[in-house]
Amino acid sequence: MPPDAPRPAPPVKAPLKLALVVVIVFSTYFAIVRVAEEKANALAGGGTFALDARSPEELHAFAAVLDQLRRWGEPDLAGSLEQLQESGHLWVSPHLAGERSAIYVSALGLVSRVFVRRDELINPELPFPDLDVPETAQRTFATIRLAGTLYHEHQHLDGLEDEAETYDREIAWYERLRDARVDRLEGEERHWFEWAVGSAVKSAAAAREKVEEADLES
Ligand SMILES: [Zn+2]
Repeated sequence: MPPDAPRPAPPVKAPLKLALVVVIVFSTYFAIVRVAEEKANALAGGGTFALDARSPEELHAFAAVLDQLRRWGEPDLAGSLEQLQESGHLWVSPHLAGERSAIYVSALGLVSRVFVRRDELINPELPFPDLDVPETAQRTFATIRLAGTLYHEHQHLDGLEDEAETYDREIAWYERLRDARVDRLEGEERHWFEWAVGSAVKSAAAAREKVEEADLES
């Protein structure tokens, strides 16, 4: 080699090459995860955020639902919903379309989340404003339905895909709640608690029926 010829670039050492490959693989992976997160966000109506300490108002409202479940003698469901939140899988959606108060979304097999509708958590409207039903009973129904829906979506997150089976489990939870509670209640209180659970069962049974009709049509 003549003395002033440009020196060839030194070969990249093997460990450095490996490190480069790792960096490229990871950045590609994170880019795809980012796409999956965006897709999940869009499917849930956009503007979604994790239900954690950065959203204290929503977290406080969620804690109130868990407290209510514990007062109803449902510590297992309260605990599993709390775990769902602590694991980072429970998100808030301000613009969730349709009538569901929560949905499960899985995007590209990389991002799995349960989204709860923000107004159902923070400021639930009276579900039956035109019915001659006391406001407390309507609020009880709304909390039972929200808890049942979160339970439903949690089943999906755990891998249960069969929609009819998921509704069956949701309905079974309502019935367990009723059976465990009603004997401790009397008079009006008992009557309206039975009404609230019965209405949640009816609403889930109607949704289950729609699934079966759709299955028959397809
Ligand atoms: Zn479902």
